Amino acid sequence: MIRRTAFLFLISVSFLVTAFPQGSSTHPRPVVVQGAMRSETEKLASRLENVSIEKVGGWTFWSGSVDGYPVIVSRTLKGVENAAAATAIVIQRYNPIAIINQGTAGGYDPGLHLYDIVLGTTSVSLGAFKTSYRAAGSGSNTLDWVPLNMLFEGSAANDSTARKVLGFPGDSVLLAAARSVSRLYNRGRVVPGIIGSADMWNDEIDRIELFRTKYGASVEDMETASAAQIASFFRVAFLGIRVVSDNTTNGDAFEPKTGEACEDYVYLVVKAYVGTLAH
Ligand code: SAH
Repeated sequence: MIRRTAFLFLISVSFLVTAFPQGSSTHPRPVVVQGAMRSETEKLASRLENVSIEKVGGWTFWSGSVDGYPVIVSRTLKGVENAAAATAIVIQRYNPIAIINQGTAGGYDPGLHLYDIVLGTTSVSLGAFKTSYRAAGSGSNTLDWVPLNMLFEGSAANDSTARKVLGFPGDSVLLAAARSVSRLYNRGRVVPGIIGSADMWNDEIDRIELFRTKYGASVEDMETASAAQIASFFRVAFLGIRVVSDNTTNGDAFEPKTGEACEDYVYLVVKAYVGTLAH
């Protein structure tokens, strides 16, 4: 009798251990939608049904549902450190099936205008560089800087394989969901592209042109690539979706209201995506 109970106990423990990370129909893994600022998250959070709010350190999470499926809106705060920490926390606490990082971005491509949306087929880190030696008094030229792969374990000084920009591909199922509703967005175009991220607001046209031609970036923000890096460590499906809020290459001045348009579109993407998940 004791052996049978122990056996059943072991079976149920191993069921829980294996079942929970995958989710189940009673505990489906939530979809997370991240945004850095109030103006990029408030509208989405207000659309969740049955919301509860949790604060962890400096970060706020709104847990609720969309069409009966669990969805969490996460305000990451601005910048790469905040976005990375918020991503690690949300993965550890809520075991999400997917993460969408969305919000505003600056255009690199002169053909991109306010309210156009870029679906991140890839996101790249534009924040880690090595400078070559320059003697005192010889100044600085950022165009000479070489990228640093922060995931490379050896010494960047001696190994040229460390000098490569890091890229993180967007998840194909999330991309398909985003494409499936792109015709419903009528504030601008929805196009695929590479999102570059760093704690930088670049308005130097030569620097922007280098990031566009050398690394393929079509917009810049301060969060997507760092959240993507953390999501990739945990093998959580990830997609960056960014609306053009400013574009110094064609003179489009910053328009904060673009953030709300992005939220409207991302809400449609979430509905399309959760429609494909069992619940
Ligand atoms: N004018 C706003 C700008 C926000 S700072 C303010 O003062 O509050 C930048 C934030 O907006 C980051 O979260 C970043 O992801 C996004 N962003 C929008 N345009 C950007 C640009 N051109 N470069 C870098 N980040 C940009």
